[in-house]
Amino acid sequence: MGEIKEKAEYCLNCKTKPCTKGCPLENNIPEFIAEVKQGDIKKAYQILSKTTVLQPICGLICPHMSQCQGNCVRRFKGEPTSIGEMEAYIGRKAIEENIPFEEKKQNKNGKKVAVVGGGPAGLTCSAFLARKGYEVTIFEKHEKLRRHFISWHSRISFKS
Ligand code: SF4
Repeated sequence: MGEIKEKAEYCLNCKTKPCTKGCPLENNIPEFIAEVKQGDIKKAYQILSKTTVLQPICGLICPHMSQCQGNCVRRFKGEPTSIGEMEAYIGRKAIEENIPFEEKKQNKNGKKVAVVGGGPAGLTCSAFLARKGYEVTIFEKHEKLRRHFISWHSRISFKS
């Protein structure tokens, strides 16, 4: 935690949020980093989860230097803030500590949606539709995915 807090302290919490503007998901980066500075990973996770359901993917796979970190003002006089590392840390902690996403679910709307493929796009699409009240079935050939994700949202089911 010490090392991650140190990385958070490096952020200037810019009011204009250029890092957020560089993020395709518009993750509220200064706001979640402010919580990491306070050592509140649970709150940081809640903020991040409003715009992404795959925080470790944001942290590990996104091309940060052409997105959030590539827009960080810190890069003008040195290294950009380590946004990706913080996102990965938060995502990992959430899984390890089983931190739930605390949201007010919209009521079920009685509509069903089928999503083909359980990759990052399929999972994200399914999660946001489920949040909006749809009942979602993901058609995915891999059984492993089902085991990991099934407990995540009661409105999502899987078919192989
Ligand atoms: S642009 Fe960089 S320094 Fe400014 S809030 Fe975003 S991450 Fe922090």
